Amino acid sequence: MADWMTVLTLAAVTLVCGCTERPAPAPPPRVATNVLIITVDTLRADRVGIYGATNIETPNMDRLAHEGAWAPQSDAPVPLTRPSHVSLFTGRYPSEHGIRDNLSAPLNADVPLLSGIFQQAGFATAAFVASSVLDRQSGLARGFDVYSDRFGGADQRTGDVVTAEAIGWLRSPPKPKFFAWVHLYDPHAPYTPPEPYASRYAGRLYDGEVAWCDELVGRIVTALREAGTLDNTLVILTSDHGEALGEHGEDVHGYFVYEATLRVPLIVRGPGVAPGTRLGTLTRTIDLFPTVLDLMGVRADQPSSGRSLGPALRGGKVPDEPAFAESLVPLLHYGWSDPERTRESVAERAVVTKGSGRVGHLARGAGASWCARVRQPWRIDRQEIRWSRSEGQAGRIQSVEWFDAAGTRGDAWRAERRSRATPSRGRSARPR
Ligand SMILES: [Zn+2]
Repeated sequence: MADWMTVLTLAAVTLVCGCTERPAPAPPPRVATNVLIITVDTLRADRVGIYGATNIETPNMDRLAHEGAWAPQSDAPVPLTRPSHVSLFTGRYPSEHGIRDNLSAPLNADVPLLSGIFQQAGFATAAFVASSVLDRQSGLARGFDVYSDRFGGADQRTGDVVTAEAIGWLRSPPKPKFFAWVHLYDPHAPYTPPEPYASRYAGRLYDGEVAWCDELVGRIVTALREAGTLDNTLVILTSDHGEALGEHGEDVHGYFVYEATLRVPLIVRGPGVAPGTRLGTLTRTIDLFPTVLDLMGVRADQPSSGRSLGPALRGGKVPDEPAFAESLVPLLHYGWSDPERTRESVAERAVVTKGSGRVGHLARGAGASWCARVRQPWRIDRQEIRWSRSEGQAGRIQSVEWFDAAGTRGDAWRAERRSRATPSRGRSARPR
């Protein structure tokens, strides 16, 4: 007791005298009231101005980055809409949350989602999605008070419809604080931007879709500003994957694990984020789960393979951590391979560690016709795939032997195709 009395007395004297030389502690960083996550589906990082695009209009995304922070190198863990979004909202890799494909079973109910954590913390929660791949059957609706996934029989809806609906909710959320997600699907194939983008970007309509989505982002940000909530909102803009646009013989996404489909923009603006910050570290969309909780001051002892980017967003640093990526589409749908890649740091190139050769050899003219051409001799006998649902790993393939066998069959099939495609010299080329 005597020791405590001494300490208290000294403290009191120090306070009264004002004789301490220690500077006043810095005020705690201001914490946002709200969270808004915008995912622009299929958005290649290099199609955004601040990422180097010079001939695509993205003033609204660029402004968010200038007023906040942006990550030059941010990786998605899988080039597929549903698995990648589940990773974003769980902070886990697909092999951990079990959603490996757009056709996977719903996310297991015991995997925590950001939406559920914020709902429990008293936030109004709402999501507005534009693709049926993300409808409530995906399991992503859990934790959202409002989950707008009305497609009226279609498999997608245009960004202006989604944006208008989201803005209606954002203008007057039912509680003082909100957690919202807006999903724009327009850059996904087919590329059909409205005017004036269709004319302005004739011949490169994907870029037109990006510019169109930038306009929609501008509408959303303007609505927040007019509602007086923009500066109290943590705004995050990112994507689930890019688009190959012909690189490596791939037209769209989902088959390979190259930069074109895995490098995505990551822009964060709001309280606690130092304006003009350029993150020098390798970031991953799985980092958003712990980052959002950190910046919002919401405690949740949930495991995540991501790490908080909070220190870097406040102007400090976070160490590099490796980024992994996979795609099981070639294996699950066509019986080829399950490519994977790893990147250790921003300074190092990503290394494809598995499966590129086998898939790469077949990828000529990716897309529907390519799939149809390859599908028949390669049709997976689903009896041969053993699904492990009991472990919560929907879609995880257990049989390595099966994969090896499939590969052997593929080699033989390719050899046969090659021999058929190369007519011998001197033989008539006329069809028989
Ligand atoms: Zn997608």
